[in-house]
Amino acid sequence: MTTETAATSTAPAAGAQAHKIVRTKNVKKIYRMGEEIVEALRGVTLEIGAGEYISIMGPSGSGKSTLFNMIGGLDKPSEGSVYIDEVDVAQLDAYELAWLRCRKIGYIFQSFNLIPVMTALENVTLPMTFAGLTSDEAREKGVYLLEKVGLKGRVLHKPFQLSGGQQQRVAIARAMANSPSILLADEPTGNLDLSTGHEIINLIKEMNKDAGVTVISATHDMKMLSVSDRILWIRDGKIDRIEKRADLKIDVGSVGGDEEGGVRDAIKGDEKK
Ligand code: ADP
Ligand code: MG
Repeated sequence: MTTETAATSTAPAAGAQAHKIVRTKNVKKIYRMGEEIVEALRGVTLEIGAGEYISIMGPSGSGKSTLFNMIGGLDKPSEGSVYIDEVDVAQLDAYELAWLRCRKIGYIFQSFNLIPVMTALENVTLPMTFAGLTSDEAREKGVYLLEKVGLKGRVLHKPFQLSGGQQQRVAIARAMANSPSILLADEPTGNLDLSTGHEIINLIKEMNKDAGVTVISATHDMKMLSVSDRILWIRDGKIDRIEKRADLKIDVGSVGGDEEGGVRDAIKGDEKK
């Protein structure tokens, strides 16, 4: 198999024809804290095709979460624009923005952010209730989603009765509740051990392949490289480079020496399929 076909076969929806589901144009974000000014983003322009799995990689403090917040409509750029399906997010009123966040985007966070007093099922059905589903419809879909993420027997568990990996599975089910077109994940494996992290990455990839959801994940977890269609390397608030996974193996030698020696094998193993 050539590298060309390897890249396309993992991302059939991310071909040249795929429409650009997210575009950012010269996005800048400046935080002012008293006297101090932090330029968290210094002009980020990018395009993400529908169905892509893209990882935003970079060291701590490089601006990943800030970019995540801009794309997710959780915060506004100081300058520049973010377009979701060609709609300028800054032009949306509060109601439209709430609609976008509820229906179009699913969010996954490092610390899971589940509601502690609610069961797994209630956590998953809550966004469906906001979207107007009846409680029966929400319940049925919630159970289906929890089964899909491997939590069949844990539907009535509360977050404190679940492991970190299980809590993140609930969060993934919740993120998929309203069948979003975009799944935004900020360090989804940041609080998980190596093998649990692997499982969560595989599950997110499954959502990407099966449901065709566009995945945008901010991470510095090198395990994420092997499932990403493209990797956007960010440094000091600017895009350093954008790489396709197929091209990445050229650089894998330098990656192999870091915390995840298994990256090289993961990428090779993936190619064999
Ligand atoms: P990353 O997610 O890559 O670790 P962040 O986007 O969280 O990076 O942060 C980028 C920079 O912006 C950092 O220098 C951080 O300290 C700063 N920053 C992030 N959020 C805020 C905030 N709400 N107020 C002030 N500074 C912030
Ligand atoms: Mg962050």
